[in-house]
Amino acid sequence: MRSVIYPGTFDPIHSGHIDIAERASTLFDKLIFAVAVNAEKNTLFNPKERIEMIIGATEHIPNVEAYSTDGLVADFARKHKAIALIRGLRHVSDFEFEFQMATMNHHLNPDVSTLLMVTAENYIHLNSSVVKDVARLKGDVSKFVSINVLQKLKEKYSLS
Ligand code: ADP
Repeated sequence: MRSVIYPGTFDPIHSGHIDIAERASTLFDKLIFAVAVNAEKNTLFNPKERIEMIIGATEHIPNVEAYSTDGLVADFARKHKAIALIRGLRHVSDFEFEFQMATMNHHLNPDVSTLLMVTAENYIHLNSSVVKDVARLKGDVSKFVSINVLQKLKEKYSLS
């Protein structure tokens, strides 16, 4: 069983994340979202909500699981016997950070290799903060999130 970990905040999951998950899931037997719980980071959705949204948004992908973690991704990968981490690469500016993380994660868990997958062209400028900002100001984000996430955003911002 070859498993890959997809770590991130996913606050909330959007089409850019889903695209990476769809493509990465075809390369492995199992794709496991590692939803970061970081007390210092202010998130709109709690970990349980973020996991529920991921499960709903990836229903069409058969081999997906999602769990939260407040520890090291390298340890999460070890616990789940994963052989790889997948990360999306949007801009050249993402590279330096991703390169550092990949090197450190390999140091912490030599059984795991990081794969960087280039973002689909139409999602290059998409991130969770933009989705939240637009939704809060009553803009249309239906092209960028799945229907279950759209519903949750409406509830959070009390929009009809
Ligand atoms: P965000 O930047 O959307 O808040 P996360 O911290 O949840 O994202 O990132 C989790 C992973 O998803 C990272 O590898 C990140 O590069 C990737 N990712 C984020 N946005 C996109 C996108 N628009 N297209 C592809 N990958 C993305």
